[in-house]
Amino acid sequence: MKLCTLLSVILLMNLSLLAQSPDLLDYYPNSYQQAREKFLSRANQITKEHPRSRLFSFKVSSQVDNNLYVDLLYIPAQKAERLLILSSGIHGVEGFTGSAIQLMFLDHFLSDSLLNNVSILLIHSINPYGYKYLRRVSENNVDLNRNSSLYDSLYKTPNPGYDKIYSFVNPRYPVNLCSAGNKFFLLRSLNMARKVGIANFRQGLLQGQYKYPKGLYFGGFDQEPQIDSLAKFLIQISQPYKFIMEIDLHTGYGKKGHLHLFPNPVPGPTRRLVESIYHGYEINWGDTTKKFYTTTGDFIDFMGQMAQDKMYVPMTFEFGTVNSHTTLGGIKALHIMILENQGHFYGYKHERDKKKVTEKFLEMYYPGSKKWRLKVMNAAIDMFNHILPRFQSYPI
Ligand SMILES: [Zn+2]
Repeated sequence: MKLCTLLSVILLMNLSLLAQSPDLLDYYPNSYQQAREKFLSRANQITKEHPRSRLFSFKVSSQVDNNLYVDLLYIPAQKAERLLILSSGIHGVEGFTGSAIQLMFLDHFLSDSLLNNVSILLIHSINPYGYKYLRRVSENNVDLNRNSSLYDSLYKTPNPGYDKIYSFVNPRYPVNLCSAGNKFFLLRSLNMARKVGIANFRQGLLQGQYKYPKGLYFGGFDQEPQIDSLAKFLIQISQPYKFIMEIDLHTGYGKKGHLHLFPNPVPGPTRRLVESIYHGYEINWGDTTKKFYTTTGDFIDFMGQMAQDKMYVPMTFEFGTVNSHTTLGGIKALHIMILENQGHFYGYKHERDKKKVTEKFLEMYYPGSKKWRLKVMNAAIDMFNHILPRFQSYPI
């Protein structure tokens, strides 16, 4: 090939990459309202193209907002064998990236060949309050990914590790970023971690607690309304299927820009099934490395409670934002979490502190960097390219 021809080919390849990049960035929304409009508009289009598909909306009751919905798009396959569930926004503010990936999925992966034997259920924005008002939790300060269960016993789960760190992670006075406690937060955290052990600290904090309603990682005293509605809906819709794969989309934990596969521990047969579908990718099982943790009341296990008589592949996709798997990154992330929750309940000494904390919190769950957004989207595309054919052809 002549040099000029080669250069033209390289230039064209670069141009096609450049042409592709802005499209992927366009999937990212600016607000909950915009995300919902985009999702409903695309879903309505799909219901016209696929007449058997259905769009459902659950209104989430609220004291402050009359316009909060969980929206669901169900596209049944020719054969009711396998069901893929792709859910977003259980941690409200993480919904931006989840919405973007759901829209990308519809454009890039929905096909007649997939719909031959794989039905699709997209659950958009499980926590619309948190999405709209930029919190991880619901209006009742409940972490819905610690609240999801068919059984009331969840809400009595003890967490003695949390009791030991409760006061440290939940200051009960207005935020003042200039205070000595905040200036020396790193030292104080290292000191606390030394006292209780870093792995115990991480596990006790992140597992979920059912005792302190204003505290971080509160899992509630009862099912939140949308979890109750989703339980009824999911039991019914999943009923005909033999094989279910659930992917719950999150951002925040782990290495910046990296897609972590982060399920809770599961029994042997399910584990082998998960490892087979995700073959070639590292899976952080939560109990196998001290850098990860296990949780109670999470959404993928909740679906597992409904799929006990079926083949089931649960997975959390966690897109890292601030290297929170490292000790320093974890402390930085914890500090922002504490300040946001403290500010929500006890206010801020200065308006500038509120602005700074709000910005940092949003950046931690929805980075503004185009590079991060493209990396995340490409990681999701790569993953779907690998796992969808395996799910579709796995013997049942
Ligand atoms: Zn999350």
